[in-house]
Amino acid sequence: MSSSTRTPLIAGNWKMHKTIADAEAFIGALLPRLSSVETVDVGICPSYLALQAMVDSTRGSRVRVYAQNMHYADEGAFTGEVSAQMLSEIEVGGVVLGHSERRQLFGETDKALALKVPKALAAGFEPILCVGETEEERERGDTERKLRHQIQEDLAKVPEERLAEVVIAYEPIWAIGTGLTASPEQAQEACAFVRALVGQRSQDAAERVRVLYGGSVKADNAAELLALPDVDGALVGGASLEAEPFAAIVAAAGA
Ligand code: PEP
Repeated sequence: MSSSTRTPLIAGNWKMHKTIADAEAFIGALLPRLSSVETVDVGICPSYLALQAMVDSTRGSRVRVYAQNMHYADEGAFTGEVSAQMLSEIEVGGVVLGHSERRQLFGETDKALALKVPKALAAGFEPILCVGETEEERERGDTERKLRHQIQEDLAKVPEERLAEVVIAYEPIWAIGTGLTASPEQAQEACAFVRALVGQRSQDAAERVRVLYGGSVKADNAAELLALPDVDGALVGGASLEAEPFAAIVAAAGA
């Protein structure tokens, strides 16, 4: 499927890295490096504490700020959680949902994600929904079954006409933070499959939805992955922590 109508998105997931001062230094170094890039959407996903500073520092630039998680309830007795309303107040542009670290280390469930994704859309955010298989699931031939289950469950309550507004990041868990990258064939096959799953709900949405690849994307492998027909960008962890390699990945998406 041609990607010509879909604007690439490169989003940097900082995880639990960077103080507010670190984040300010990063953005000061990144923005001048983006001045010649016109055809790529850029995102950063700081910790909650650095969100406000990053919203302020990126205002008027092409960088959108995403939270790394969000609760589905408006408010309530959920110690340690943050609501869509709270994120709206500081003008966050989007939210990462269902990252494998949230699923594996913090018990994030598909049931919760089925509530979070429509909540994020209703709040005016761009959700980046992460899906992907473990090494064992890939080895026993269960990759498609896992992706089908996650996409069907997590997007079940998203109305057909809003499906294309969700960004889906295919992130094979065995490639996250490991230095192992999916081969171009594996990335293309999985991202095309994710798109086809969206197509089972709406062909129009399948053509418009952005599917990202994530898993050890670096400056030196980005061009090959980003050229794949069903890969519309990347969710980047480690290589998003320094402005120079991150800007190089953005440049590869715009080439
Ligand atoms: C991620 O955390 O989403 C990720 C893809 O990390 P890394 O690029 O470090 O593998």
